[in-house]
Amino acid sequence: VIYTAHCAMVEAGPASGVLISFEDVTDRQQIGQMRRDFVANVSHELRTPLTALMGFIETLQGPARDDPAARDRFLAIMETEAQRMNRLVRDLLSLSQVEEMERVRPDTRLDLVELLASVLHSLTPLAEKAGGKLQSRFDAGPLFVEGDADQLRQVFGNLVENAIKYGGRPPEVLLRLSVIERDPVMRGPALCAEVIDNGPGIDPVHIPRLTERFYRVDSHRSREMGGTGLGLAIVKHIVNRHRGRLKIESIPGQGSRFTVILPRVL
Ligand code: ADP
Repeated sequence: VIYTAHCAMVEAGPASGVLISFEDVTDRQQIGQMRRDFVANVSHELRTPLTALMGFIETLQGPARDDPAARDRFLAIMETEAQRMNRLVRDLLSLSQVEEMERVRPDTRLDLVELLASVLHSLTPLAEKAGGKLQSRFDAGPLFVEGDADQLRQVFGNLVENAIKYGGRPPEVLLRLSVIERDPVMRGPALCAEVIDNGPGIDPVHIPRLTERFYRVDSHRSREMGGTGLGLAIVKHIVNRHRGRLKIESIPGQGSRFTVILPRVL
């Protein structure tokens, strides 16, 4: 606990004296530290691709100027680095948008069956490119939740994309949606969406920290896969804003399961 002491002279005749008060500034200090860490992380994440880009520009202006094969190779790497910066800026914007929102507008009713089917459809080519497949098992729909369609699409898009990226080789991903008649935490009906993969799993020591911004189990692997380290932080914020909860479970050697529970609207 961190305190700031305030000291003042009080002049009130015979009752004059010194007034000392203490203020608990722990939260303020911690928020300040988190902000500084965040800025340091963002700067580092941006500087890495930027340094690579600057290096290649210099090479293209000098030694590689008259070498078409080298030029093409360098331009391809520069494109990858620029895309990395682009994804980082996109994810930073998403994160700041969802952090600013108190709650989602409670007036949009969405069918989660339809939304999950569209996420699966759009990510099937990514799984197939890795030689894998996506499967689904949904309770009969429509099954409604209240929320923002783009944001919920982002939640399940991030989770399924991670399951493909960090899953087994070839990746096999199952997306399941089931009804909870009465959720003990929400004290009402809920929907349970699970993304299950066949990957090497996650060591339990990492699980509580996975939703922190820029936290990665294996930085090299994440970067190689085009990750920004912000995906699960965004997922957690969006799920919280929808009055839901996120659960992460993993059995090393067998795979991982990311579960999102959202209040159901009848
Ligand atoms: P990234 O952009 O690095 O993928 P995320 O926030 O989406 O960032 O995920 C954070 C880290 O959690 C990843 O770097 C990876 O190490 C780990 N991770 C996420 N999903 C899975 C999964 N399905 N299986 C194993 N590890 C995972």
